[in-house]
Amino acid sequence: MILPIRAFGDAVLRKTCHNIDQDYPDLHELIQNMYETMESAHGIGLAAPQVGLDIRLFVVDLSPLAEDEDYADIAEELKNFKKVFINAKILEETGDEWKFNEGCLSIPEVREDVKRKETIVIEYYDENFVKHTDTFSDMRARVIQHEYDHIEGILFTDHLSSLKKKLVKGKLVKIAHGDVAVNYKMRFPK
Ligand SMILES: [Zn+2]
Repeated sequence: MILPIRAFGDAVLRKTCHNIDQDYPDLHELIQNMYETMESAHGIGLAAPQVGLDIRLFVVDLSPLAEDEDYADIAEELKNFKKVFINAKILEETGDEWKFNEGCLSIPEVREDVKRKETIVIEYYDENFVKHTDTFSDMRARVIQHEYDHIEGILFTDHLSSLKKKLVKGKLVKIAHGDVAVNYKMRFPK
């Protein structure tokens, strides 16, 4: 089932999300719905608050990037990078910061460069509640960092300089009022 994606301005996007356990109701169905919702919106990551739930869960599917020649050197890894992160905790972020032009399904039509560190060490549970501690770099780290921010109530626009923030403010206000064209199912706060 495709769920409506919450737009900028929705209070749930600002919540610090809480851990869940294996008994969380209909967890597998929720994960399935989140994948479906993400795919229908052509996203590569989606966090639970974006579908209205303040829980520490996000999904990532980097396979669409495998076609992109910018990532030719890691195409094989990206093709199979479809993962669920439950109760994630970033333990370490290392390496040089690099810029990437990010976007977000909750903030349509806005793209801005965001600096993030190269490598992360992250602890999380998968959909079967098996615990992992993994190290990720490149686009894999980037997308996880973006989704991880969501479960902490942080949006990519929070990372912009104060000047850039001023420049995008008008667009954000419009999104919060539903005054934006989107080709996927969204729910606006006002
Ligand atoms: Zn996002």
